[in-house]
Amino acid sequence: MTVAETAWIGVGSNIDGPVSQVLRALDALAGLPSSRLLQRSSLYRSAPMGPQDQPDFINAVVAVETTLEPLELLHLMQDIERRSGRRKLRHWGERSLDLDMLLFGGKTLRHPRLVLPHPGIPDRAFVLYPLAELDPTIMVPGHGRVSELLDRLPASSTASIINNPEWQV
Ligand code: AMP
Repeated sequence: MTVAETAWIGVGSNIDGPVSQVLRALDALAGLPSSRLLQRSSLYRSAPMGPQDQPDFINAVVAVETTLEPLELLHLMQDIERRSGRRKLRHWGERSLDLDMLLFGGKTLRHPRLVLPHPGIPDRAFVLYPLAELDPTIMVPGHGRVSELLDRLPASSTASIINNPEWQV
């Protein structure tokens, strides 16, 4: 029998109608085969990490229960990126859609195409804020609980909830 696992997936966009991009991606993730949407966070706004001469990002996180294998899930996530007509302008730069597999249950993996947990989790407010909204007790293997990681973020590193996403489309 295949055991269902919970995968946490981060979504981000900062060009081509970022709020719509993120909302469409959340719907696509809710429709993944062999999977069931458990939770979806609010939408957040965060400052870009790389070059500062680009728009803020819109971010969200979903929790999905799935019987897919991690690499199958990654493949389907990349299909969603491709089908969205994803544009990526430069390294650390603007992108119309970015899907990151943050966690897959408590699994750790070092595969050429998939690293779990996602190595960016501990430093990224735009991932930790929505993860904490879903469940601050989530354990990030090798790093500790989401609530602890959030406490360790520098004060300058934040993400703020967008209360009325319709206004921002
Ligand atoms: P990016 O263009 O920044 O979204 O990076 C995508 C690349 O990162 C792809 O080649 C993936 O195979 C690789 N990758 C490694 N680990 C992960 C992960 N946990 N989630 C998403 N992509 C990953």
